This record gives sequence, C-alpha cells and structure tokens, in this order.
Amino acid sequence: MRLRILVVGAGIAGLAVARSLRLAGYRPDVVEALPASTVPGAGIYLPGNAARALRQLGLDAPLRPLGDLIFRQVFLDSRGRGLFEMDVAGLWAGVGESRALSRADLQQVLLTGVGGEVRYETGVRDLEVFDSAAKVEFSDGGVAEYDLVVGADGRRSTIRAKSGLGGPAVPTGQIVYRSVVAGGPPLSDWTALLGRRSSFVAMPMGGRKQYCYIDETAPDAPNPADPLAHLRDQFGAFGGPVPAILDAMETVSVARTDEVVLDTWSRGPVVLVGDAAHATAPTLAQGAAMSFEDAVVLADELRKSPEDVGAALRAYENRRRPRCGEVRDRTRERDRTRDVPPALRDPMLRRRGLRIFAEHYRELVQPL
Ligand SMILES: Cc1cc2nc3c(=O)[nH]c(=O)nc-3n(C[C@H](O)[C@H](O)[C@H](O)COP(=O)(O)OP(=O)(O)OC[C@H]3O[C@@H](n4cnc5c(N)ncnc54)[C@H](O)[C@@H]3O)c2cc1C
Repeated sequence: MRLRILVVGAGIAGLAVARSLRLAGYRPDVVEALPASTVPGAGIYLPGNAARALRQLGLDAPLRPLGDLIFRQVFLDSRGRGLFEMDVAGLWAGVGESRALSRADLQQVLLTGVGGEVRYETGVRDLEVFDSAAKVEFSDGGVAEYDLVVGADGRRSTIRAKSGLGGPAVPTGQIVYRSVVAGGPPLSDWTALLGRRSSFVAMPMGGRKQYCYIDETAPDAPNPADPLAHLRDQFGAFGGPVPAILDAMETVSVARTDEVVLDTWSRGPVVLVGDAAHATAPTLAQGAAMSFEDAVVLADELRKSPEDVGAALRAYENRRRPRCGEVRDRTRERDRTRDVPPALRDPMLRRRGLRIFAEHYRELVQPL
C-alpha cells in the first residue's frame, strides 16, 4: 500500500524527515505555517554526529563548503584564563566533522533535499486520530486523511497537543542571546567563557563572521528591553575576546529555552520528531543532530515494517528514546556544573573539566 504521509513543520526536523522518507520511496506532503520568505537568523553549531546523520541523508556534500570547521573547544574563566580544551576533531574522529554555519544556509541545504516541495502558509489547525488513520484540518479550511502524520512542529507542537501526547513545553529558566558578528577579533576555535550562572560562547562560522551564543540562568528576570546594552553591561568586564566582540556586535536576538519530556511519542498513526518530542536546552548543541537521527531511524523502521505503521513507530521510539534521554540528562548535568559558583567550579574544571565534558558525548559517538 502507498502510505499517505503528512509532515507538519518545515524546520530542521520536518525537512530532514521529508528527505529520509523520500529516500525510502515515499512522497510525503510537507506543510509549514510560516511563509516561504521566512529566513532563520543566527548561526548553528553541528557536532560530529549531526554530520554523520546528514551523510546518511545524502546531504553531506552540499554542506561541505559552508561555514567553518571546528577542531577545538576552548573553555576559559570569565577573565579569559584557560580552564581546559577539548580536542573536538579527536572526539568525533571517524564520525563526522563539527561545523558552525549560518542557519539560513543549513535550511537551504535541507530544503534542496526535498526538492523545495513545501506548502507554506499552511498550518495544521486540528487533528482527529483514529486507529490507523488521522484526519487533519489545515488553516486554509482544507481537510485530508493520512495513514501517517509526523509532528515536526517544534517545542510548542500543535500535533503533540491535539493528539493528546503532551502539554506545553517546560521553561528551563535560561535566557539565550544570539548574534552574528562581522568585524570581531580573529577567532579560530569555539570559545566559551564561563561566568556566574552565565556563559559567553563565540565561534567562527565562515565568511569571516562569528556566531555568538550567550546564556544566563534567569528564571524570574524579564527579557531586557535593550539586549545589546544588557550584554555590554553584564559581560563587558569579561576577558579574552569578549570586549572586542561586544564592540563589534550590532544586533541581538533573545530566546527562552524549554524542555519537552513525554511518556510516549506516538499515538495511532501520529508520531513526533525533533523538538516536538524531546526539546532540551541547547547547551550541548544536539537539537539538530537529534532531529537528523530521528529522521534516519524513522525511515529505517518504516522500511522494515511497511505494512505495519504502528510497529514501525514503536520501533522508532524504542531506538531513539535512550539517546535523546542521554542528551537531556547530560544537558541538565552540564547546566548544573555551569551554575556552580565560579570559586568552586573553575578549579574543579581545571583539574577534571576535559574528562567530565568529553564524557557528555561518549554515547553519542556510538553509531545509531
Ligand atoms: C537559542 C537556541 C540555540 C540553539 N542552538 C543550537 C545549536 O547550536 N545546535 C543545534 O543542533 N541545535 C541548537 N538549538 C536547537 C535546535 O534549534 C532545535 O533542536 C531544532 O531547531 C529543532 O527543530 P524542529 O524542526 O524540531 O523545530 P523548529 O525548528 O521549531 O521547527 C518547527 C517548524 O514547525 C512549524 N510549525 C509549528 N506549528 C505548526 C503547525 N501547526 N502547522 C504547520 N507548521 C507548524 C514552525 O513554523 C517551524 O518552522 C538551539 C535552540 C535554541 C532555542
């Protein structure tokens, strides 16, 4: 039987799933609530396991000329003095390259991977789930029935809510500032300066630009009215490259991060992927990698059980849950470590930081 498949959301997870399903011989419909003209700002860091999954999706070649390769992660204290360094190239040797690039470039690669076939400005408004089919109502009033609905609609997923798989995402208490900076000081490594319940991360992202990712644990603080002034105020006294980067910084976007933790990821013919299923704080930069891996595994399981979608969805969840749980647990651990007062944390990281932080990726280096 030719499965009628709908992918809801054309973000990182939705486009990756659409690609993997096409490689498996399916022709999914892909809908996206936003207009085609929406271009994601900011940069993104993709560790080696993201590259491995992109290779499995046949998208490594178009990615190769983009962004900058990251070979080392350098951790410094707030004054810019060394804590430890991680040999990223060694950590992911034999798995894939680690890369920082523009989100818009990544989106373009993923979009090309589905032949550009996305119905934009078409949101899913409602969903009725039966045993082996789902009836979907779109924002334009259209209605259609599918044998499989893939909810790739992000951490505030409508599909999750409408299928009864889970409620709203839970805020982590972190506030994140992102900026792409041109004309900053030369920077060859991914570099993090750890402050008091805060960090300032900068990395080269190609085109002589730097991608900055700055976060603070501030559950009760409102978003600052002037984020750039706030960053200059809070991080201006940091050492290393930070003052020069802040001088060159022009625009800043602000986001709050959330977690999604669910008992189950599928109901009948409806399944969740990416942030809709397992969002975490982006501390380990594993969100895209987990989305790509979801895509590879979902298509793999559908190939194995083409006649039994329910069995394929259960097998997908069984394979993916331990790895995504590992990312969640390690992310929480990393954030807890970061939030230890610097007088205790920094000497401990000088002694054992490399061992602790490299351990966070140990399981993820393993094949899917
Ligand atoms: C501040 C920040 C920094 C990050 N940094 C990194 C990083 O460096 N590396 C990394 O790997 N990850 C990072 N992440 C995580 C990563 O961005 C996410 O894990 C990833 O984008 C998840 O993709 P997704 O497709 O599941 O969700 P989304 O990117 O949220 O995409 C969901 C899509 O669905 C659409 N949609 C929503 N509702 C509907 C509907 N009802 N109908 C139709 N369409 C709908 C949305 O418009 C959107 O396009 C970061 C996240 C944040 C918040």
